[in-house]
Amino acid sequence: MKVLVINCGSSSLKYQLFDMTNEHVLVKGLVERIGLEGSILSQKNGEDKYEIKVDIPDHTKAISLVTAALVDPQHGVIKSMDEISAIGHRVVHGAEDFSGSVVINPEVMKSLNENIELAPLHNPPNIMGIQACQKIMPNVLQVGVFDTAFHQTMPPHAYHYGIPYEYYKKYKMRKYGFHGTSHQYVAERAAAMLGKPIDQIKVITCHLGNGASLAAIKYGKSIDTSMGYTPLEGVMMGTRSGDLDPAVVCMLMKKENWNIEQVDNFLNKQSGVLGVSGVSSDFRDIENAAIEDSNVRAQLALDRFAYVVKKYIGSYMAVLNGADAVVFTAGLGENSSSMRAKICEDMEFFGINIDKDKNFTRGVEVDVSTNDSKTRVLVIPTNEELMIARDTNKLMKTGKQSL
Ligand code: AMP
Repeated sequence: MKVLVINCGSSSLKYQLFDMTNEHVLVKGLVERIGLEGSILSQKNGEDKYEIKVDIPDHTKAISLVTAALVDPQHGVIKSMDEISAIGHRVVHGAEDFSGSVVINPEVMKSLNENIELAPLHNPPNIMGIQACQKIMPNVLQVGVFDTAFHQTMPPHAYHYGIPYEYYKKYKMRKYGFHGTSHQYVAERAAAMLGKPIDQIKVITCHLGNGASLAAIKYGKSIDTSMGYTPLEGVMMGTRSGDLDPAVVCMLMKKENWNIEQVDNFLNKQSGVLGVSGVSSDFRDIENAAIEDSNVRAQLALDRFAYVVKKYIGSYMAVLNGADAVVFTAGLGENSSSMRAKICEDMEFFGINIDKDKNFTRGVEVDVSTNDSKTRVLVIPTNEELMIARDTNKLMKTGKQSL
């Protein structure tokens, strides 16, 4: 039983082929610079690395190269595409239409197209990826797994904004939340690490990567999350501002004479730790600049990032009335012991105590809290692709249309 997982960006396509009998990754690859000069497919299978450098004008060509790489006699891992039972696609925005993964059919495609307005940068490439697979593998079951679906359990008082209700009705303006597949995966792993059923634990999950979000998860269900209508809300990120007074937007438009696109670009691409530090959007560069060059703005960016994450943890402690565990995941959360320590310092009131030695870890599942820490602090590498493969496999095996 083999499942292909596809994650399409506007000019990139990531893929992994899973053998679902043991959940092993048979091969993974990346197509870059789709529609641009210098496009390339690179595939990795253990030590074997395979590259195809050809013009890749669109996602259909990218998918056809992926299929060629998968069955390549020398570098491939399967004999024929018939071995692939289903394809799982990451889809960023499912709005209120999807609270779980679904088999893709014409009705689902219609909803995805209707929701483009909510995620203009993300949903169109996701749709292109699905259409390309439909063209090249018309008989293979295709499944959509949404970043927003896991957060559809938020109660109305958590997802409504303080704006006139009619705009929720008119434009679907509300908090949706993202990174749902990651939050769900690490919450399930946290339950396994704590040795308790997921419906008996409360966790705060911190997905801290280039994009960053936190979720308050009560008995397996997301009840609040930091990202909102778009992934711009919440904690400050690599290049996104996160929360700020909306009056800043009005004032910038007035003072700088900016149009909507310019403000959008400013908040999404030039802000966050990049904007504050002036160094980079990459936390490794910022940590280096702060330590090696004593760069004050780099230090400010790190301090502010840790402070905002700490504030969200505090607010979710209130929302959940205490948590069994705080989980760190994604690039920064999994790898930066100094950022984890900074976020968790002076949190004894919440029963959070990090063990300095245990915390000196990266990229593995580990409990980094002291033995007497009431709230466990867990580092759990995320695996969104595996979640997508699992949901796809579940739908295929059960014959259901949605989960
Ligand atoms: P992601 O979006 O999950 O791939 O995470 C990317 C972010 O994680 C980048 O800002 C990286 O700088 C950061 N990151 C990855 N490894 C480390 C590390 N060892 N120390 C600090 N930050 C890291």
